[in-house]
Amino acid sequence: MPPLRKKRPPKRAPSVVYFRHAKNEKGHKQLCVYVECELSGNLVGPVWGHSAQSVNKALAMLTQECDCPSKFHAANEYHGKRILHSARREE
Ligand SMILES: [Zn+2]
Repeated sequence: MPPLRKKRPPKRAPSVVYFRHAKNEKGHKQLCVYVECELSGNLVGPVWGHSAQSVNKALAMLTQECDCPSKFHAANEYHGKRILHSARREE
């Protein structure tokens, strides 16, 4: 009998991204994101900022901390209001 193929864990876990703000150490309100794994319900954050980098960083953090077997986490749903400041560089 050929060996049964092992059931592979899903490669990507769908995750919910929450655009919020929270107070930093100095008590200032700052934009931040939280991400939640839809498979395990694990939540990480805050990661400061609402940029794509912030979301990616939060998803990477979730992959490190999450106990679901997925290889990585991908944004599946977005909640909250995303505020993107255009990066202004005056040179
Ligand atoms: Zn997960």
